[in-house]
Amino acid sequence: MTLTTSKIDLIADAFRTIMETLGLDLTDPSLKDTPERVAKMYVEELFIGLDSEAFPVMRTFENPYPSSEDGIIQIDEISVKSVCEHHFLPFVGKARIAYIPSDRILGLSKAHRLVHYFCKRPQLQERLTVQIADALCHILQTEDVAVLIEAEHFCVTMRGASDSGSTTRTRILRGKFLKARDPFQ
Ligand SMILES: [Zn+2]
Repeated sequence: MTLTTSKIDLIADAFRTIMETLGLDLTDPSLKDTPERVAKMYVEELFIGLDSEAFPVMRTFENPYPSSEDGIIQIDEISVKSVCEHHFLPFVGKARIAYIPSDRILGLSKAHRLVHYFCKRPQLQERLTVQIADALCHILQTEDVAVLIEAEHFCVTMRGASDSGSTTRTRILRGKFLKARDPFQ
């Protein structure tokens, strides 16, 4: 039995217990495969970002800008789909990333893959923002990085305050962005 299979089995058993405790009839054809389905979804999709092997390949290229002072690279409208670790409910929104490259720039779509990787684990929006900024600083070898995430949390929309449409913004500005310019204004 592989590690992934045993994880799926253990989570399926635990989820079956939750469903039975709620009084659901696990012999119902519509419900009987739900524990296994949820377990596979957790391990292979929603929380695949807990597996460091799933970290995306981050290809970088030589910086084409003549002076690193002049060029800002900004990527907008990166989709954020994650799960809040306090309630295990989704939070969804958009991320924006900006950096002033030193010697290297990031390959197209790599910023998207990086955001999606860190989204795929039980998360806090605040920590997600930091993890993306840290990874960009490390990969691009620069402190001149900015990250903004705006997301709606279903733990606010569906329960608690029950307030739909409200969003939370988290923003990190580092290096030159901290001192001189906010690329998201
Ligand atoms: Zn929450």
